[in-house]
Amino acid sequence: MDRETVWQADAGALADRLRELLTVVRSAEAEIGAVLVEIESRGVQELFGYRSAARLYEHLADVPRAAAVRTVARAHALHPSRSLDAAPSLAPATGTAALTGGLSTPMIDTIITALTAIPPEHRDTAEADLLAFAADNCHKQVAALGARIMAHLDPDGPEPADTEPATPARELSLRRKRTGTWELSGRFDDETGTRASALLDALAERRHADDGPDLRSPQERYGDAFSDAVDLALDSPELPTQAGERAHVMVAVSLTDLQSGLGTATLGDTGLLSAAEARIHACDCKLIPAVLGSTSEPLDLGRARRLISPGLRRALFLRDRGCAFPGCHRPPRHCQGHHIRHWADGGPTDLTNLVLLCGHHHRLLHRSGWQVRIATDGHPEFLPPRFLDKRRKPRRNNLHQPLPFAA
Ligand SMILES: [Zn+2]
Ligand SMILES: [Zn+2]
Repeated sequence: MDRETVWQADAGALADRLRELLTVVRSAEAEIGAVLVEIESRGVQELFGYRSAARLYEHLADVPRAAAVRTVARAHALHPSRSLDAAPSLAPATGTAALTGGLSTPMIDTIITALTAIPPEHRDTAEADLLAFAADNCHKQVAALGARIMAHLDPDGPEPADTEPATPARELSLRRKRTGTWELSGRFDDETGTRASALLDALAERRHADDGPDLRSPQERYGDAFSDAVDLALDSPELPTQAGERAHVMVAVSLTDLQSGLGTATLGDTGLLSAAEARIHACDCKLIPAVLGSTSEPLDLGRARRLISPGLRRALFLRDRGCAFPGCHRPPRHCQGHHIRHWADGGPTDLTNLVLLCGHHHRLLHRSGWQVRIATDGHPEFLPPRFLDKRRKPRRNNLHQPLPFAA
């Protein structure tokens, strides 16, 4: 219908046209589902390199991930797969009806939900009843029929399954907002919640150290604890790899910005952070730095020069036995290697230029008037800023007990 025809059409003609268009859209949507199932049965990875049909569809259709996942799940319920290891589709007759364009998406979802609850041996009959009813009724009425069929098949409802452990319900969403802050929300079963709380409690303790009282609010302490927990998990050798590599985050920064600590760096795909912050993260290569020259060409600053090898890290653990900052009790696994002279400024990566620090004291050292040096006996000592001690008398951490084999 062109614009002129729309303007001249009467109410009946407009309604007819709407119905026609809906049929086209619905049948096209059903066909999209059938094509997705076919792609999946041939192997999405082999055909397109994507990990799943949902990922492919998310990109191809430019829809949110959740919508793509729903589309693919619906397609599986409707269209039989040719793949031998695929489960039979839940509602094949509904799939056939959907291809003719006769069923709305809510109707399809209602039928799928009803059939999911119905025992497999009754599904064929129930599907035929629901479809026949769907021809003349809206999806809400079909949902009511589904409930009636279910009640008829199983008048007592499901048996209380007190012998079977319940499948835990867990949800988590982590989203980046346009402002660059991230929002985390979720709901967990009691057991997971208790474990997470124990983990965060342990990491969120108030700090006792020579840099003054810990003035963070409980929320701030738990926020820092979460950040530490993420670092611990990322450092774990058990972490699954992605595409053959350990999970890591790239940060792109120019060499002049990295050296001066002025300017900005690009974090991951989207984020921005200050060059000063990038300098802290790059210090122990917790973020993989891509250092760029003046025309944004990547500079090879030599991984060997900046990366702390496992052997060197062990030596650092043995010498410092934890965060070396005076009064800090954090154990080695919570710590990062700080280059006393930053590798970007030509500092070497060896014991004479490295000191073990927890995340908090690492930041403090990069930002404040505290200084660290390796004393003549080979151990790190810290010079307080002048506002704390006019004479700047060096201080050491004596909290970490010597390891029995490293006396
Ligand atoms: Zn550092
Ligand atoms: Zn510390």
